[in-house]
Formats: sequence, C-alpha cells, structure tokens
Amino acid sequence: MTERIFEVRQIGVEYTCDKCGGFMRQTGIMLPVDPPRWRHKCDHCNETADLSGAYPAVRWKRVATDHSRGAGMTRDDIIRMAREAGAHEKYGVLYLLPEELERFFALAAAAEREACADICDQHASVEGIAQRCAERIRARGKK
Ligand SMILES: [Zn+2]
Repeated sequence: MTERIFEVRQIGVEYTCDKCGGFMRQTGIMLPVDPPRWRHKCDHCNETADLSGAYPAVRWKRVATDHSRGAGMTRDDIIRMAREAGAHEKYGVLYLLPEELERFFALAAAAEREACADICDQHASVEGIAQRCAERIRARGKK
C-alpha cells in the first residue's frame, strides 16, 4: 500500500426533475433502507423522488494530469521501461532476454492499469461505482 496524492477541484451537483426540469430539493427525510435513500421534492411541480444521495451536493473531481489524461505511452516511456527491465542496447537496438521481456511486460501492464484506474477516478461519483472499478483495476496488479 502506498499513499498517493492528486489534485482535486470542487464541483456542485444538482438533480433535475424528470417531469418538469425543476430542481429536486432535499426534504430532510432519509429512508432507512440499505443503501439509504434521501427523499427529494421538485421545487416546481412537487414531484417526489428517493435518490441515492442528498442534492444539491458538493463533490470533488480529480484534476486530470498528463499521465491520467490518457495521453498514452510515449516512445521515451517505452524505452525507459525496457531499460528498467534490463534490456541490452547495441547500435540503437534493444535486446530483451525472456525474463527481461517478462519484466518489461509487467511494467507496461502496470502503467496501463494505472492509466485505466485514473480514468475511473475521473468519473468518481457519490455512488462509488467508478471508484470500485478503479480499486479492482489496481488490485489486478497485486497477487
Ligand atoms: Zn418537477
């Protein structure tokens, strides 16, 4: 386990009424179900809805970095990983022994996993589905 830091920005989230487009407002009633639901009422037509969060809400969204923006692997990144895996270089050609090739593959797979998990983190929500996907993707690297 490693602690990591990332930049976030604060965002406000509102819920609109499916019937009239008005705004759903909290009534202060939380239904004791598992998972809990919050009763909302439209500020325009009085339609009610039981939602999985209380709205309006404040959330934090991960600020995309160059790495997590999906820019992908550059040629320099690939060469750096090959060297890190122990590749031998001669006349500009990289040679990898089978065990070095395995290490290179593991490094590339880990980088791709992290990029995928970052994409999930960028879609993080109160419901936590994207966060769970990110955890599962990262867990694939831990055996
Ligand atoms: Zn409405």
